[in-house]
Amino acid sequence: MAHEDCLFCKIVKGEVPAEIVREGERTLAFRDINPQAPTHVLIVPREHHADAAAAAAEGTGLLDQITSDAHEVALAEGIAETGYRLVFNTGSGAGQTVFHLHAHLLGGRGLNWPPG
Ligand code: C5P
Repeated sequence: MAHEDCLFCKIVKGEVPAEIVREGERTLAFRDINPQAPTHVLIVPREHHADAAAAAAEGTGLLDQITSDAHEVALAEGIAETGYRLVFNTGSGAGQTVFHLHAHLLGGRGLNWPPG
């Protein structure tokens, strides 16, 4: 069920524009408006879950789906072989600002460890 004030629910419904790169049955992938790497794509489920922990607790299977869809995007972006990073910011202390589950797919440049 979509949440009235949720930005990513609005993107899923087409009410807020986004540069969509992949449309799946259960997920949508679009370019982050403030990219942190040459490829920075967000993979979001069509249904609303606040974060990865909530989706996992509800037994949705969405985290598997997001991971495999992210790999499809990485293949299409040409970063699958070199390597990429998938990030689920979970909670405001970790930098989560949009409380609709999303994975950041980052690649196309060297990525440092530990992340900032
Ligand atoms: O993990 P976090 O919640 O901080 O990520 C939200 C991401 O959504 C940010 O990277 C931000 O740039 C992105 N964003 C977007 N399109 C919007 C609003 C935010 O891509 N309209």
